[in-house]
Amino acid sequence: MAKGRKSRTELKSSKLKHHSRNKNRLSSPFSSFAQKFPVQMQSWKDTRLPNMLWACLLASGMKREAYFSLCHAMCDVAHARSEEAFQFITHQRLAEADAETFLQVMIPITETPDAISILRPIRLLRTLPDAAHWETILSDPVPETDWHSLAKAIALCFDHQSQPSTDVRWLKLMYFVASGKMRMPPNMLERLLNYPADENHNTSGGFARASESNFSMEIDGKTPSIDGAFDTEAFWKECYESSSCHPAAMEKDNSVDSEKIAHELLALYEAVAIHFSKTIASTDIDPRHDSSFALVLYALYLLLGLTSTRLDQRAEGRVTLRCIAEAFITLHWLTKKDDPSIWTQHRNYGVGQSKLSLLKNVDLDEVPDFLDLSELEVYANEDYWQEFTDIDLGAWANKNLRTLADESGAKEVYDKYYDWSSAYVHSNWGALRDTVMTPCLNPLHRFHRVPRSPKFEMPSVLADGSKLVNRMIDDLNTLYPTFKPRISWHHKESGDKTKAGKPSRE
Ligand SMILES: [Zn+2]
Repeated sequence: MAKGRKSRTELKSSKLKHHSRNKNRLSSPFSSFAQKFPVQMQSWKDTRLPNMLWACLLASGMKREAYFSLCHAMCDVAHARSEEAFQFITHQRLAEADAETFLQVMIPITETPDAISILRPIRLLRTLPDAAHWETILSDPVPETDWHSLAKAIALCFDHQSQPSTDVRWLKLMYFVASGKMRMPPNMLERLLNYPADENHNTSGGFARASESNFSMEIDGKTPSIDGAFDTEAFWKECYESSSCHPAAMEKDNSVDSEKIAHELLALYEAVAIHFSKTIASTDIDPRHDSSFALVLYALYLLLGLTSTRLDQRAEGRVTLRCIAEAFITLHWLTKKDDPSIWTQHRNYGVGQSKLSLLKNVDLDEVPDFLDLSELEVYANEDYWQEFTDIDLGAWANKNLRTLADESGAKEVYDKYYDWSSAYVHSNWGALRDTVMTPCLNPLHRFHRVPRSPKFEMPSVLADGSKLVNRMIDDLNTLYPTFKPRISWHHKESGDKTKAGKPSRE
């Protein structure tokens, strides 16, 4: 079992229970709010971060104490000039200022050599709307080191809730307040002024972030890119074209010994086959006996196949896990019902599907290579002459798998093993993102997704498949007692003391 993968992820967002259902859609709490109070979506990383890039460089390059000392000095200058003070410090707004005003705003910075040096990478960029102003106070860039500094600043501020980005967002808001443009109640102002020193650091940081976001339309004037004052897409294009991609490296996961597992699975497969022979009551058609054993053997066969070329660590492993989950839910539901007519329905549906495939392909000039029509004909006629066989076109039980899982008390299997593995069957974006795409680790590229080398080292599905097969054998044991062998390698791997032979829920 993949050790260390059991740790839970701490969500920074709403849980499933906080979503509201409307037909086939689960709406997030925010979208429910946005329906009542329409808001214009705005992005920190795409537009507001580039608009405060100079402050991002300072927040990521200076000691925090020095950064805040400089910020307070800038705010003091603005506060002292109050009425005539320039109220905004985004690149977009600074571009609107004349040279004298720009220098007035930047007095504390120009008097701090360290800050001037840290800001030098700004000179690399031609797409910043206020580039001409910065040229007057910053020395020529040194591309060999300055692109790296720029990448570091963007990386540290990329997350809208990180400490450096919060420090930047605080400055943007604080400067607006200090220049007298915005008034706020004394208790709120105190929280803002005490950031980041007060004990309620997270609360005051959250307040600064929320306020910066709420007032950014007013502070920025126009929405960068959308209103065109600062073409932030051009900024990101300049960053992209100035540096190369760095696809994330593959993770290695070789925590299971597939050869050993294969031996155990093969031995179990043979043991189930022997139990089949011991429990057979008649050579007549017996849907209950045949299907229950065949479902278990099929799941074991699929699991065994994953071990031969380490398919358990590839997308094919997830596709197979979904098949095993479906086999489990089917058997579990059949076992709970244990109704002769339903066992027959399960078998006849499969026979009908064999006949359907045969009839669809028999007159084709070019039959798919994987189809063997002579075998299909055998399957379609094995129980009865196919002329007597009807073909059901819906789901075999006239219920979808989720309903079968619900009705048999196996919904947790559906949720745990079927939902996400289905993504790999349906080629949805989540599976594609996981399998053939990876983030580019260059912050100047906004961590965009790029093709990766084939991912053959995913976390193994063998332990999950083994748990499901064991539960299938529990059902088989209910139908045809007594059968004690179980897969046990994953208990040993995880240090679980559950002994083979005991019915196991996992
Ligand atoms: Zn890239």
